[in-house]
Amino acid sequence: MDPAHRQALPRAAPLTTVPTRHKVLIAGSGPAGLTAAVYTARAQLAPVVVEGEPSSTSDQPGGQLMLTTEVENFPGFPDGILGPELMTAMRAQAARFGADMRTAKVSKVDLASRPFKVWIGDPAAPEPTFEADTLIVATGARSLMLGVPGEDKLLGYGVSTCATCDGFFFRGQHIAVVGGGDSALEEALFLTRFASKVTIVHRRDKLRASRIMQERALGHPDIELAWTSQVTEVLGDGKVTGVRLRSTADGTERELPVTGLFVAIGHEPNTAVFAGQLDVDENGYVRTHDGSCTNVEGVFACGDVQDHVYRQAITAAGSGCMAAIDAERWLEAHGS
Ligand code: NAP
Repeated sequence: MDPAHRQALPRAAPLTTVPTRHKVLIAGSGPAGLTAAVYTARAQLAPVVVEGEPSSTSDQPGGQLMLTTEVENFPGFPDGILGPELMTAMRAQAARFGADMRTAKVSKVDLASRPFKVWIGDPAAPEPTFEADTLIVATGARSLMLGVPGEDKLLGYGVSTCATCDGFFFRGQHIAVVGGGDSALEEALFLTRFASKVTIVHRRDKLRASRIMQERALGHPDIELAWTSQVTEVLGDGKVTGVRLRSTADGTERELPVTGLFVAIGHEPNTAVFAGQLDVDENGYVRTHDGSCTNVEGVFACGDVQDHVYRQAITAAGSGCMAAIDAERWLEAHGS
């Protein structure tokens, strides 16, 4: 058969795809994943970054900062920077040094032996998409949301999940915080620095938060409690103008005129894909030791997937740097 004729024939679909092997694979592309990418790329380790897929949750490319507006507390930006802009800049910086960005989600991993096997797309595919000598887990966490009308549309326009990030924009305003745990009370107390009044909306008549936080919040002159109340709708067109509340005691409804709503009903780390392979704590966060090491040698974790205490872009970036250096040293020690 002459070559020209051979080319004209339809190609048979390959039975299996052959995985490509990499020294470093990074799952996640928030500040932690992208900082790890910058460092490992500059160390000539040619990382692959599986950056997530566009969605309305935090496991999308760029992570939770893609859901915020102004970021004023990331050092180096005296006039602030938009969250998406900051992430675009970090991504460009990682790409400049040769990080290979893949817009996809990790669908399955096999960490039982090295090289680690990582699938994107169909988890039932017989062969993994990638093999990796080290894996950096930077898949972040998502804020649990109420799922009520108006919430998604006004996220970043009065609806927020981070008082430290956004509280400053609500100076002199009346804002509401939803939740009855430590996070909600901590957010509410922090917000009193800016707000004229903070209303904590809680669905029960008892708080879940620790006693000390309860004492602080309940004793604060600028905090009031809307007990046995559930937010059923966030009101506003382009910006928040109020929330509709329904009493969980008698079903009556009322409107609370607020210009901000902070949702603080908990977070969920994006660890499902690593279940049963990586050690996690009682809240599902990956346990790390000695920097960013996990229970699996060669697997490192950074950012919000392993931190439910600080949860800041800058701390995530710092831990991403740690994971990159840990991975680099591990590769050196293991002759890869
Ligand atoms: P959490 O303790 O699970 O509290 C979540 C709160 O949100 C609960 O009060 C819950 O109400 C409420 N909630 C959940 N789903 C809701 C919904 N759909 N609508 C309305 N309300 C809803 O979460 P967290 O406050 O984020 O704390 C997580 C962990 O981190 C805890 O162990 C906490 O102690 C710790 N933490 C510690 C600190 C600190 O020590 N400084 C700060 C923050 C967090 P119910 O009470 O009715 O279930």
